[in-house]
Amino acid sequence: MRYEGDIYRPPPEADAYILQCTIGCSYNKCTYCSMYKDVRYRVRPIEDLKEDIRMAKAAFGNKVEKVFLSDGDAISLPTEMLLEILSELYTSFPKLTHVSTYAGPQSTLDKTLNEFKQLKKAGLSMTYLGVESGSDEVLKAVRKGVNSEEMLAAGQNIVDAGIKLVAMVMIGLGGSSELSKRHAQETAQLINQMNPYLLGLLTTVPMEGTALFR
Ligand code: SF4
Repeated sequence: MRYEGDIYRPPPEADAYILQCTIGCSYNKCTYCSMYKDVRYRVRPIEDLKEDIRMAKAAFGNKVEKVFLSDGDAISLPTEMLLEILSELYTSFPKLTHVSTYAGPQSTLDKTLNEFKQLKKAGLSMTYLGVESGSDEVLKAVRKGVNSEEMLAAGQNIVDAGIKLVAMVMIGLGGSSELSKRHAQETAQLINQMNPYLLGLLTTVPMEGTALFR
């Protein structure tokens, strides 16, 4: 239970024990994101994670029912490592029923459907995917790193594996021009195809220090 830097988690994970698996985000290029701008990405050693889990067990005993794996894109960890983390968590916390993580689209596409099925079987129950927009133009403008087709494939991999997908989109990311209308319409189309378990709507706020703010 040691943390480095600012820790972010989705609102539904407010009652989860947060296990910091990585420091920062493996991608870290989205123009609107200020979360890990000053952080050099690295994966924490598995022994440190196991030690943290032992500390959490000593502090919370059997009360832990939910765990959130941070930081910004823990799905980017090698599948073998994620499986080891999940095994350690479920062995340590008998009442654990929910383990979730943020997922970036590129790292999601780096994994096969079979790998996601293994993760689901091992207890990964939910992932939060930053879809942001269904418009190729908007995705390109904010340097999301994938187009809408790739974003759909990433989301479908998670859904097809039986993992609950929370798709997050950003209202207002199209700006105030004609692009805003296409952003809304194409995002709706993408989400309907993706068919997530939950849709999270976030309001775009330009944050100081980001390219979007400038
Ligand atoms: S993938 Fe997520 S955490 Fe990483 S830079 Fe983009 S918005 Fe930020």
